[in-house]
Amino acid sequence: MDISHILDPLNEAQRQAVCVPPGHVQVLAGAGSGKTRVLVHRIAWLLQAEGVSSYGILAVTFTNKAAGEMRGRIEQLLKIPASGLWVGTFHGIAHRLLRTHWQEAGLPQDFQIMDSDDQLRSLRRLIREQGIDENHYPAREVQWFISARKDEGLRPENIDCHNDAHLRQMIEIYRAYEVMCRRSGLVDFAELLLRAHELWLKQPQLLRHYQQRFHHILVDEFQDTNTIQYAWIRILSGTNSHVFAVGDDDQSIYGWRGARVENIHQFSKDYANTAIFRLEQNYRSTGNILNAANVLIANNSERMGKNLWTDGHDGEKIRLYGAFNELDEANYIAGQIQDWVDGGGLRSDCALLYRSNAQSRVLEEALIKNAIPYRVYGGLRFFERQEIKDALAYLRLLNNPQDDASLERIVNLPTRGIGNRTVEALREAARSSGVSMWQALWQMQEQKALPARALGALKNFAELIDSLKAAMLDLTLGEKIEQVIQHSGLKAHYEKEKGEKGRARLENLDELVNAGRSFNVDDYDSELPEMDEVTAFLSHAALEAGESQADEWDDCVQLMTLHSAKGLEFKQVFLCGMEEGLFPHRLSAEDPVRLEEERRLCYVGMTRAMERLNLCYAEKRRLYGDDKYTRPSRFIKEIPEEYIDEVRMQGFAAQTAYTTTASFIQEENETGLQLGQRVHHQKFGEGVVLNYEGQGRHARVQVNFVSAGSKWLVLEYANLVLC
Ligand code: ATP
Ligand code: MG
Repeated sequence: MDISHILDPLNEAQRQAVCVPPGHVQVLAGAGSGKTRVLVHRIAWLLQAEGVSSYGILAVTFTNKAAGEMRGRIEQLLKIPASGLWVGTFHGIAHRLLRTHWQEAGLPQDFQIMDSDDQLRSLRRLIREQGIDENHYPAREVQWFISARKDEGLRPENIDCHNDAHLRQMIEIYRAYEVMCRRSGLVDFAELLLRAHELWLKQPQLLRHYQQRFHHILVDEFQDTNTIQYAWIRILSGTNSHVFAVGDDDQSIYGWRGARVENIHQFSKDYANTAIFRLEQNYRSTGNILNAANVLIANNSERMGKNLWTDGHDGEKIRLYGAFNELDEANYIAGQIQDWVDGGGLRSDCALLYRSNAQSRVLEEALIKNAIPYRVYGGLRFFERQEIKDALAYLRLLNNPQDDASLERIVNLPTRGIGNRTVEALREAARSSGVSMWQALWQMQEQKALPARALGALKNFAELIDSLKAAMLDLTLGEKIEQVIQHSGLKAHYEKEKGEKGRARLENLDELVNAGRSFNVDDYDSELPEMDEVTAFLSHAALEAGESQADEWDDCVQLMTLHSAKGLEFKQVFLCGMEEGLFPHRLSAEDPVRLEEERRLCYVGMTRAMERLNLCYAEKRRLYGDDKYTRPSRFIKEIPEEYIDEVRMQGFAAQTAYTTTASFIQEENETGLQLGQRVHHQKFGEGVVLNYEGQGRHARVQVNFVSAGSKWLVLEYANLVLC
């Protein structure tokens, strides 16, 4: 068979890694050097040159988006669908195993996945129920504790409390939480991994089956595997399989969530005769971007060290923009994207990356204002939006009456006269008789355990759920969702919400119906055992959380946190909010180890850019409701000036901003701007200057426009023309 299509697009070092005879392999190399390409070509090589069956290959990546791209690239190379091949994230693969072997894993067949928001709510409820002081045991801390222990493979009985009262209590909550999850048939994200690991330990015949099946295990982004993921691979690979791991120690960015970069070093100790390959040529970024990133990361001490180079051209310098505030930053970015598009560029080649999810809102608003389509990955994800979770909670409860978390979410939503006290009584009844809240509700009806009004309200709710269930029997998934949104009262509830937000919520609910209509359980994951459509859809919603949505839009700007940009590349990248306290994050700035992780994150962000990299910071930022004057990030200062082009605003506004440090009055005199002056603004038309404040770049001016009324404008960007 002709295999030149597999080898030709590779350089010599890459080719060696792709063609090495079966054995354990590690590819350790910097950003954009072709690690993922090597992994993909290795799979094609195994299939076409080594004659390995696709059934015998398991490939693991970090995000669903990356997994989708990887499968696409493999199929493109092979020119046929790679059926039988398992490609997925650790969570996705664990989920698949647990669905297939639910009995062996000790789970109910219709178990539901709980995302971290649901988990937090459940924990908050549980802590309250047990009469534990939330000030000493905040739900978020408990959640962190439980997830971290699970990631280390520890159940409550495996943790030693060392006679520490606080720790003992934490363990007790963990134990109670497990009981709750079991009773409700719920599984959180960390539990997926831990159960899948326990499946290997407790079911040797099952393990043997998969060991005999997967002779080749390939892992991308290996530097960010945590303890349980690595242990899972170790066991699965047994003595027969070959593991092919690619990674970059400079891109380890999940230490805060238990990832262990040490696994890179451990690998060659655990797997005898590991062949190690290094790649040094970068194909992604221009010289300026790559060199700047290399200098930045050289400030870290704990590195394996590498020398990345490119034979491409230097390209443009990195653009640095110091904004007046976060709104200005967002407007600047929107303007740059507009220019890019006007110059023939695609919006989907532009990515806005930020440290914290909360930054996205202002950016989104600027994009909306400028009519630039965009998609947010991660964070504010579609399936995490309030109204979507409300609708899904109905669906979940209808699907699984044991799901207390969902029942609590919607029992009084929209309000139907079921007060907190009634819910508490319900919770208490469920707890004391060890049943679900749904069962407790019926028991209470029989026993008349509440005042008549409360009983009546609960009865109405129960009847609503029953009637929804009956009405849904023969409907398609899309119709079911529509039914739920309509008849639960959710739609009417959100119709009452005024303004843009209410409209957006209704649109989102419509979009959910669309999602249901276009959902095809067979496309979702052909390897999953048969399950009903609703369960499949709910699992999809919890696991994929909107990641795959962007593809449905033709050409839109991509917004995501720096963390979720791992492995991806874009022609133009904006790193937003490069300010001390935000990036590096204030919680990490004082701790040298965490600071190095922040720097790696910056390295990851910079190396996503192929052609144009923009660094932006604001001198003043309102975030989490607080106004703060900020300083540019130390990471900006670590980049040599020779790679940077500082962007200055042009024209009238720029003159007032940069020509003098004298007071605004002097500048105003220089420019001829006076109180009562008539000015023209491109959008608002003509008006009269009423007032002004601030100096230089902070100067703002109040203008009373004839048609638009009075407005405060930042002088620097208002581009006012004197009339
Ligand atoms: P990261 O560390 O960010 O995950 P990576 O090492 O996985 O990066 P890839 O994404 O595989 O790098 O490759 C980076 C870019 O370079 C891609 O666009 C890829 O197609 C291209 N590339 C890799 N190797 C070659 C090559 N030999 N010839 C041409 N282009 C290449
Ligand atoms: Mg990669």
